[in-house]
Amino acid sequence: MKTLIRRGTVWDGTGAAPYVADVLVDGARIARIEREPGRLTAGDAQSIDARGLTLMPGLVEGHAHLSFCGATKNTDLGDIPPEEHVLATMHNAKTLLDAGFTSAYSAASAKLRLDVVIRNEIDAGRIPGPRLRAAGPEITVTAGLGDENRLHMARESFGIVADGPDAIARAVRLCVREGVDNVKLNISGDDFVPAAKGGMTVMREAEVRIACEVAHDFGKRVASHSRASNAVKRAVQCGVDVIYHCEFADSEALDLLEAARERVFVGPAIGLIHNTMHEAGPWGITREKARELGMDRCLENAQKTYRQMRKRGIRVVIGGDYGFAWTPQGTNARDIEHMVTLFDYPPSEALQCATRIGGELMGLELGVVREGWLADLLLVEGNPLDDVRVLQDKAKLRLIMKDGTLWKNTLGEVRH
Ligand SMILES: [Zn+2]
Repeated sequence: MKTLIRRGTVWDGTGAAPYVADVLVDGARIARIEREPGRLTAGDAQSIDARGLTLMPGLVEGHAHLSFCGATKNTDLGDIPPEEHVLATMHNAKTLLDAGFTSAYSAASAKLRLDVVIRNEIDAGRIPGPRLRAAGPEITVTAGLGDENRLHMARESFGIVADGPDAIARAVRLCVREGVDNVKLNISGDDFVPAAKGGMTVMREAEVRIACEVAHDFGKRVASHSRASNAVKRAVQCGVDVIYHCEFADSEALDLLEAARERVFVGPAIGLIHNTMHEAGPWGITREKARELGMDRCLENAQKTYRQMRKRGIRVVIGGDYGFAWTPQGTNARDIEHMVTLFDYPPSEALQCATRIGGELMGLELGVVREGWLADLLLVEGNPLDDVRVLQDKAKLRLIMKDGTLWKNTLGEVRH
């Protein structure tokens, strides 16, 4: 199958100025980019008139939780039976693709095999969804984020509880055996956790180190939940590949991240903080309650920290913990706007976080419109460089292509 997309305005994901071109897709890949429109003939390719539209890379969600389906508290996720949970995760995968996300890097699955089975079904072409790097649940220590148990009562949310290097190593191996691509560690707590607060670094150095060693032995990547500055430092020093949150990183932690910037990725996951402050009222989280939960302090620190991250050239990906009741799946492109409005990224750089850098995170040839690279492409009505919010409007996503195959096409000019 070949597709010729004619006369679109190409924003290629590198930060280069847009240009008009004809783009020929052959199979799963971009075969030719011809800057002199009209030179490529359609031949046996289907032809699409893209005049006036922006042709850009498909979006990459850098902190996906496809199995999070509108929870108001973490134990809601543990309460869902596995059968229903598989179907909910499947529906979320389609929702993300409909929103222009052709790739997703998972930051944890609520049950061990949810991401894995959905990834396998997507790869087999049996269900729609983004390319998925599957994660397991969040490996956490007793009393850490994700340990919902109480002495009289076993509860689940999205965690695997393990204490000490041997048990942590076993938990990582279990995730690997069941098919994950990414392992997730909760190194710091979070302010809503009774014992382990966001400022605390509760997973021991030996535990983080062995988790990274074991995961890397199997060729898997490690991501961490690291709010506290010490949790960021421990992550970098022990070999974590993707470090999430980081809002309380001090200058020493930022120095470590900068020194490791060719190796590590960082993701603020700011959508959840923002929406908990401003959009969670219907679920009883008033503005005042959000402040009590530490959200304002979190956001203020994130703003200071991510302005620094940008100046230091640290690779930042988008993804805002979408999947809670007040961060619905499919609204993920709002994080691009947050990069602009909260962290002062110019639109082109914010868009690169969602495309080129996301592609580097996936470890695949995608996220840039480039000859020979995977044809994950969007045709967008309007110019995202003028207003990144156009990507939040599904009606403006006129075409969504993944792997050279059209998932959505409202242009109606395809002919064979
Ligand atoms: Zn998360």
